[in-house]
Amino acid sequence: MMAANPQRDFPEAYELCKKFDISDANMEEIVQRLTKEIKMGLAKDTHPRAVVKCFITYVQDLPTGKERGKYLALDLGGTNFRVLLVTLRSETEIDIESKSYVISKTLMEGPGKDLFDFIAECLSSFCKDYHIEKENLPLGFTFSFPLKQVGINKGIMITWTKGFKCDGVIGKNVVELLQDAINRRGDLKVRIVAILNDTTGTLMSCAFGNRNCRIGLIVGTGSNACYVEKTSNTEMLEGYQTSNKPNMIVNCELGAFGDNGVLDFIRTPYDNAVDKQSINPKRQTLEKCISGMYLGELVRHVVVELMGKGLLFKGLDSQAIHEKWRFQTSYISDIESDPEGSYRQAAMIMDQMGIRTHVEKDLACLRYICQTVSTRSAKLTSCVLACLIQKMNTKDCSVGIDGGVYRYHPHYHNLLVENMNKLLKGSAKFELIVSEDGSGRGAALIAAVSV
Ligand code: ADP
Ligand code: MG
Repeated sequence: MMAANPQRDFPEAYELCKKFDISDANMEEIVQRLTKEIKMGLAKDTHPRAVVKCFITYVQDLPTGKERGKYLALDLGGTNFRVLLVTLRSETEIDIESKSYVISKTLMEGPGKDLFDFIAECLSSFCKDYHIEKENLPLGFTFSFPLKQVGINKGIMITWTKGFKCDGVIGKNVVELLQDAINRRGDLKVRIVAILNDTTGTLMSCAFGNRNCRIGLIVGTGSNACYVEKTSNTEMLEGYQTSNKPNMIVNCELGAFGDNGVLDFIRTPYDNAVDKQSINPKRQTLEKCISGMYLGELVRHVVVELMGKGLLFKGLDSQAIHEKWRFQTSYISDIESDPEGSYRQAAMIMDQMGIRTHVEKDLACLRYICQTVSTRSAKLTSCVLACLIQKMNTKDCSVGIDGGVYRYHPHYHNLLVENMNKLLKGSAKFELIVSEDGSGRGAALIAAVSV
């Protein structure tokens, strides 16, 4: 079949998908609004009520490329929990040994003490495997949840996101919770020298080989970014005007952008539905339009509505398609990976969802819905990046990026470049680079620059 013409081939679906459109003017408006929110997060008098918190990370040095040594890292806040042993041997030679552990749903929603005991147990068994339990190695803790840092190795938990909800952690110093759990075991000697967000790790990891890196971006399970701000603008730092270090990495906690309603003008009824069924309603508004945890579910809602109206997969139905969170974000990548005019993967995925069809018009419509949702995600991410580049007033920088959506979606990178060019209009050059293992390598680098 020829490439579909959505307006002609499935006009009702086309109309419905229009709700996800973000015009160029709207993108510019979003950049403006985000700039305002970021300034509120940075300034001392507005920070308490700011939605985009812009937490200072206490990381003021980017890597020089000369960092060496052996470090431990923990990565909590992604799909898997990981323990890593990172050895920085030379600028190009970095050894990483790592092990992943599954955090059960019971742990994710249970008491915080159980979670930290589990983390300490994994750390202990990892260290014993490598015979380093007595080495007192420096450890960088990548903790990818909103955290108010009060020092490089002290951070107060603000709120859970991404499906976690453990009692007894909010308002506490997470480093202490981990240290206590380690002490309770008594079989392990490590020094927790830094706590960081995955965005900061991603920036550092990219900056190790790319001295021009100024932004760390995550488009994975969640979405967030950090950037290099002038210390003189980071009012939340005690002595920010007199600090002898010119820069400070700021963890924007961008996922919350829109929680005060400033993104309502681009949100759809489907966003509302997904928000309502989430574990954290009314929070992480931007994240819910962008990240992997939610994109598949948005597509599923649109599909179900069209099916209910008899406009898609007519005469077919299944239990699976009505099951919340069942439609994976990875399906979107698969469906959009089919070459133009081919719907092989689309048909396979619908078959897995219990809907067996080869009606090309329907599969083309499904792909159009996927494109609609992923394009909106990429447009919003472009707004974020253009905003940060303009905020830094840099003419040329690199962006280190991690996360399954960026890595695996077949067109995400190109969509970012296209829309960032639209917004920046040649005012700045940029390079988007996949950042390798920010949560591990980046954590080690932060440990290295901060000891
Ligand atoms: P995190 O560290 O936040 O878990 P990852 O970088 O490991 O994130 O990315 C995992 C997330 O990426 C998954 O939760 C899923 O939403 C998304 N993802 C996984 N595979 C794909 C894919 N093929 N295409 C798009 N998104 C994907
Ligand atoms: Mg991760």
